[in-house]
Amino acid sequence: MKVAIIGGGPAGCAAAYTLQKNKIDFELFEAAEKVGGRTKQLHRDDGYNLGTGALFLMGGIYPRTMALLSEMGRKKQLVPWAGASELMDEDHSRYPVRLDSFFSFLKVPTLGLRDKLNIIGTGLRLLVSPGARNPFDGSQLAEYDSGENLENWSRANLGDKAFEYVMRPIMDFLYAVPSRELSTPFPKALMKQGRKISLSSPEGGIGQINEWFLENVSSEKIHVSTPVEKLTLEGQLWRLAYAGGSILVDKVIIATEAYIAAELLKEHVSDDAYDRLMSTHYTEYAHVAVGYDKDPWPDYPTDIVLPVGEGGVRNVGAMVLHGRRLPASVPNGAQMVGVYFNTPPLKDMSDDDIKEEAVKQVDAAFGQAQKPSFVHLFRYKKGLTIAKPGHYKMLDKVHSLLPESIELAGDYFSQAGVEAAVHSGERAAKNLLLHRAREF
Ligand SMILES: Cc1cc2nc3c(=O)[nH]c(=O)nc-3n(C[C@H](O)[C@H](O)[C@H](O)COP(=O)(O)OP(=O)(O)OC[C@H]3O[C@@H](n4cnc5c(N)ncnc54)[C@H](O)[C@@H]3O)c2cc1C
Repeated sequence: MKVAIIGGGPAGCAAAYTLQKNKIDFELFEAAEKVGGRTKQLHRDDGYNLGTGALFLMGGIYPRTMALLSEMGRKKQLVPWAGASELMDEDHSRYPVRLDSFFSFLKVPTLGLRDKLNIIGTGLRLLVSPGARNPFDGSQLAEYDSGENLENWSRANLGDKAFEYVMRPIMDFLYAVPSRELSTPFPKALMKQGRKISLSSPEGGIGQINEWFLENVSSEKIHVSTPVEKLTLEGQLWRLAYAGGSILVDKVIIATEAYIAAELLKEHVSDDAYDRLMSTHYTEYAHVAVGYDKDPWPDYPTDIVLPVGEGGVRNVGAMVLHGRRLPASVPNGAQMVGVYFNTPPLKDMSDDDIKEEAVKQVDAAFGQAQKPSFVHLFRYKKGLTIAKPGHYKMLDKVHSLLPESIELAGDYFSQAGVEAAVHSGERAAKNLLLHRAREF
C-alpha cells in the first residue's frame, strides 16, 4: 500500500510518524518551504526564535501528543512552564492566578462568596457528569454538543462575575473570539480535567515536535514547497498532481485546513460533505512579537498578563513573556513579549495600528520600557478554527461521507490545538491500517 499525505502541520506529521512506525510506504507533500503549519518557528538572524502560532502543550489534556512524545523518548525534553499569570483589571489592579489551576481563580477579590460557591458547585457537577475523555477528540465532543453557547452557559451556571474573571480571560487567550461564538463541550471537558493541565514546550519551540515526528523518515519522502493542486481517481488509485509532477497512490490522507480539503475533494464527495467542510469556521487572528535586547522586566513577578473587566470589547487577550516561557527563544539577557489580539477589533485595525497597540499594551502591562529592538506582526486572515455551537456534530458526520481510500485529518475536527491535530493525524493513519487489514 502506498499512501500520500497532503499537509505537513502536526496532523500530517503525526500521520507520517504512525505510518512509518507501521512500515507503510508514504510520501508527504507540504505547500510551504518547511513543515510545521501553524506551529512553525521563525528563527531570526539576531538569535530570537519566534513561534508563528502555537506556544504551549497542555500536559495530561493532550493525551495522544504526550503518548507519542513519550514513545519517541522526547517527553522528558519538554521545558515545563509554571504559567504564573495575573489578571489586569480595567483600573490596572492585578490578581495573581495560574493557567494550570482553576482553583487559583477562586482567590480573585472581585468574586463574591456567591460567585465562588457557583464555581465550586458547577465544578463538582461537571466532575460527576459525563463528558469527552479527550477534550480534543471531535467524535467524543460531538456526543455532548447541545448547541448551547459558552457565554450563555457560563452566565447561567457560573454567574456574570465568574464569566468575566474566569471563563472569559482563559477563552480569550485560547481562542480570541467572544464566548457566545463558542460551543460548550470543550471548555466543560477542560474544567472537568483541569487538574491534568500542565504547560510546556520543546526547547526549540512547539514546531520542533514536527521534526521529531519525521526524524526517522527519509528526506526523499518529504516534499516541501510542493502544494498538491488536484486529486483524480484512476481506477482504484488516486493521482495527485502538483506543480511539475504527479504521483499515483492507493490511499490519501488530507491534512490541510478544512477549506483546502473541501476544494481538493469537490469532485469526489457529495455536496453535503463539501458544504460541511466549507462551513468550518476560521477566524482572523493576529499576534505580535516585541523584542528587547536588554530585558526591561527581569524581576516582574508573573509571566502572563490577561486583561479583564466588564467594559466590552478588549483589544488584547494576553501578553506573554516568552523569555520566561522558553528561555532559549531569546538571546542571553534579552526578552520578547508575545501580544495576542482578540479577533473583533482587528477588522478596524491596520498592520501599523496593531503593532503600535501591541507596544502600548506591553508598557501598560509590564511597565514603561525602552524602544523595542523589533516588532514583528503575525496576521492571519484564517488563523484559528472555531467550534461554534453544533460544529462537532456537523463535522463528525463528514468521516462517513468520504470515499474509503481517503482520510481527513486536522485540528478543525475539534478545537484549534496541537492535540486536536495530532489525535486526528494518528487516527487517520490507523484507519488506513484498518482498511488494509480488512482488504486482506
Ligand atoms: C497564533 C496561534 C496560536 C496558537 N497557540 C496554540 C497553543 O499554544 N497550543 C496549541 O496546542 N495550539 C495552538 N494553536 C493551534 C495549532 O497551531 C493548530 O491547532 C495546529 O497547527 C493545527 O495543525 P494542523 O496540522 O491541523 O493544521 P496546520 O498546522 O494548519 O497545517 C496544515 C498544513 O497543510 C499545508 N497545506 C495546505 N494546503 C496544502 C496543499 N494544497 N498541499 C500541500 N500542503 C498544503 C499548510 O501549508 C500547512 O502546513 C495556535 C494557532 C495559532 C494560529
